[in-house]
Amino acid sequence: MKKEVTLRFLGGARKVGCSAILVECEEGRILLDYGATPSKKIEWPLPCDVVHLDAVILTHAHIDHSGAIPLLFNFSEVPVIMTPATLDLTELLIYDMFNVAREPLPFSKREVKLMRNNAILLNPNTWYNINDRIRVKLLDAGHIPGSASILLDIDGVRIWYTGDINTRETQLLRPADTEIGHVDVIITESTYALRDHPPRKREERKLIEATKEVLERGGVVLIPAFSVGRSQEVLCIFRKYGFDGRVVLDGMARHASRILLQHPEAVKDYNLLVEALKSVKWIQDANERYKVISSPSVIVSPAGMLVGGSADWYLKYIYNDPTSALFYVSYQVKGTPGREILETKKIRIGGKEKEVKAEIRYFELSSHSGRTELLSMLTKVCNGATVFTVHGDEESTIGLANELREIYGIEAYCPAPGDKFHVCP
Ligand SMILES: [Zn+2]
Repeated sequence: MKKEVTLRFLGGARKVGCSAILVECEEGRILLDYGATPSKKIEWPLPCDVVHLDAVILTHAHIDHSGAIPLLFNFSEVPVIMTPATLDLTELLIYDMFNVAREPLPFSKREVKLMRNNAILLNPNTWYNINDRIRVKLLDAGHIPGSASILLDIDGVRIWYTGDINTRETQLLRPADTEIGHVDVIITESTYALRDHPPRKREERKLIEATKEVLERGGVVLIPAFSVGRSQEVLCIFRKYGFDGRVVLDGMARHASRILLQHPEAVKDYNLLVEALKSVKWIQDANERYKVISSPSVIVSPAGMLVGGSADWYLKYIYNDPTSALFYVSYQVKGTPGREILETKKIRIGGKEKEVKAEIRYFELSSHSGRTELLSMLTKVCNGATVFTVHGDEESTIGLANELREIYGIEAYCPAPGDKFHVCP
């Protein structure tokens, strides 16, 4: 009899947010990611029986992949498999949820501690036996430090889940490892399935030149950046190009940077990271912030989409100054203050709308594969596998599945939230 494996898409289907996929078969029950959507009202994965699980496998620390894991420990204990850097970074980001959430979280710090107690730390490229019939291997995903894709082997049936993946090399990270051999099922992210990124090096050079111009005219450059990954990437770019202006690091990006210094295995060039972090000023208190905004400086600080964080504090001091600049280095989700300012050039302060006079620019330094890379990866590794498209808006997830089917002749589906698929390779 043919083996049957069931996939249930509990989150991250036709959208970005609360990624969660349940893999069920006779041999066991495994969760791939268990994330939350950190918007005004936090969203969680669809309900299902999460008591009887053999393991949870986590691709990376971002809350939309990891944020619901402590929920599982309300009911029982379950091994959580991930890379060592992912554990430390996930803890940092989940503890921050307690600070920023506008509603009580459905778990306490006790459950976050239980996650650590039940963690199984796995370095990439090593097989781990979950039980005697299911094994797992993690592969570098090139997305943020510690990120991995998941290769699951259930008695010979092989499922590859990309998580968030970037096959382009960056200053901070190696490109994703896609040497997965034969697989029967691929679950792929689709964030940029319809859009290509501009050449990376060109964007890096543009960022450096634009920053120099602002400092030369006596202004301050504010770069809102995510704590994990993007902040350090930006600092590595400045270091790599020999930028000699004053650069400061603030907010939770400092904590994330300290964690990364303990994980040389999670970055491409540890020396570059160490040099980059040594060459910038780490802000210690409010007095130092006032000094920074009074002379030409570059400020790298979260939140990446200006939802609070110290970047928000700095912005209130520079928005009205035409010599200063606000440089975006990451995608701004609809509904965030970052997106609103980018589109309207207006900022809300004390309930009033004000014009942003500082220069506003956007630099594309994405940590996801663009359309060309994604298609070339999938067509290379597919080889008869069935593909499921997740983690992208409706247009991208449906568009990618259609394109794979119609143009490349690949069996591809775009699951809707809650959809169940039986795969019988
Ligand atoms: Zn991510």
